[in-house]
Amino acid sequence: MTGLTDIPTRYQAIIYDQPGALSTKIVELDTPNPGVGDVLVRMTHSGVCRSDLSVMMRRWSYLGPPIQPGQVGGHEGVGEIARLGPGTERFNLKIGDRVGIKWMARVCGECLPCLAGRDGSCFNGKISGYETAGTFQQFTLAPANYVTPIPSSLRSDLAAPLLCGGVTAYAALKKCDAQPGDFVVIMGATGGLGHLALQIGSNGMGYRMIAVDYGHKSEFAIQCGAELYFDVKNHKSNAELVKAIKDASPGGFGATAVVVCTASNDAYAAGFEMLKLSGTLVCVGVPEGKQVPIATVDPASIISKEARVVGSLVGNREDAIATLDLAARGVINTRFRIEPMSNSSKVFEEMENMKLQGRVVLDLTQAVS
Ligand SMILES: [Zn+2]
Ligand SMILES: [Zn+2]
Repeated sequence: MTGLTDIPTRYQAIIYDQPGALSTKIVELDTPNPGVGDVLVRMTHSGVCRSDLSVMMRRWSYLGPPIQPGQVGGHEGVGEIARLGPGTERFNLKIGDRVGIKWMARVCGECLPCLAGRDGSCFNGKISGYETAGTFQQFTLAPANYVTPIPSSLRSDLAAPLLCGGVTAYAALKKCDAQPGDFVVIMGATGGLGHLALQIGSNGMGYRMIAVDYGHKSEFAIQCGAELYFDVKNHKSNAELVKAIKDASPGGFGATAVVVCTASNDAYAAGFEMLKLSGTLVCVGVPEGKQVPIATVDPASIISKEARVVGSLVGNREDAIATLDLAARGVINTRFRIEPMSNSSKVFEEMENMKLQGRVVLDLTQAVS
C-alpha cells in the first residue's frame, strides 16, 4: 500500500442518526485502509441530492431494506486519492489524482447489465450512501476500477453535483432517440435534474429544448438553453397545456421526445399526450411512496401513436465520463452554493420544505469543531 503520510487516524463523517426522521449528526470515525482493488479518497466536496433525503427518510422501499442508524449518506462526491490499496497498480491512478464517486459506487463487471454496458443497473452493484459508506465524510473507500476521473480543467465543487444529476440528465437525453434540431420537452425543467437536461440538450446535443415547469421560471429556463417556457399555472388543464405545446411544435404534430424529470403523475400523463407519432417518453422522476400508473398510457394509445416509453436510471460509467467532459468544455453550468458540513441538517430541512434553490455542495475540507 502506498500513500500520503499526513492522513489522520480519525476523521469526521455525517451520519443519519435516526433513519426515518430528518436528522443528521457529525461523528468521528477511524480512517480505513484500502483493501485489494480499493483506493482511499480524501473527500473535498459532496453534492446533496434529493435521493439522499429519500434514503434518510426510508421513503424508497423499492430500493431494498431500510438503512440503519449510523449510515453515512451521499452519492455525488469528489476527492483526491490518498492511498492506493494492493492490486491497484494496473489502473492509471496515482496519489493526488481527483476522482468522483457516484450513485452506483461499485459494480461486479460480470453480470448481464455490466456485460451490456449498463453498469448503472448492475445486479450486484452497491449504491453509495445506502449500501456503502457514502460521500458525506472526509475519507471514503472506492474501487480503483470504477471511480470517475475528474478532468483537470473542471473544479471539484462544479463536478460533484454532476456525478448524479448531470449523469442522469445526460443518460436520459441519450434515450430520447432524437436528432439535432428535434423538439424535446423537459417536464420539471428548472429543478436539479431539469436545468442540467436543458443545458446538455441544447448546447451539447443540439436539440430544440422546450421547458415546462410550475411558476415564473421562464428567465432561468431560457438562460439554461430553453427555446420556449411553458408555465403549468397558466393552463387550466393538462389538455390545454398539451395543446399549447403541440401548437408550438413543428407542424403542430407534437414533441419528438418528452423527458419527465419531476415525480408528478400529471406531468407523466401530459408528457405522453404531447408526443408526436413514434415519439419517446423518457421516465426519470421517481414518485415517493405509492407508485401511480401513468394515467393515460394504455396499450391502444401506445399502439396508435407507435410510441416508446422508456425508463432511465442513473447512467453508466461512460455516461459519467462524457458528462464531466461536457462540463469541462463549458457546456454545463450547475447552479449551486457551498455549505459547511455543520449545516447538513439545515440543508435537508430546506430540501424537505421545498425551499432549496439549485444544488447544495458540502465543503468536506473543514472539520467541525
Ligand atoms: Zn442523486
Ligand atoms: Zn454487474
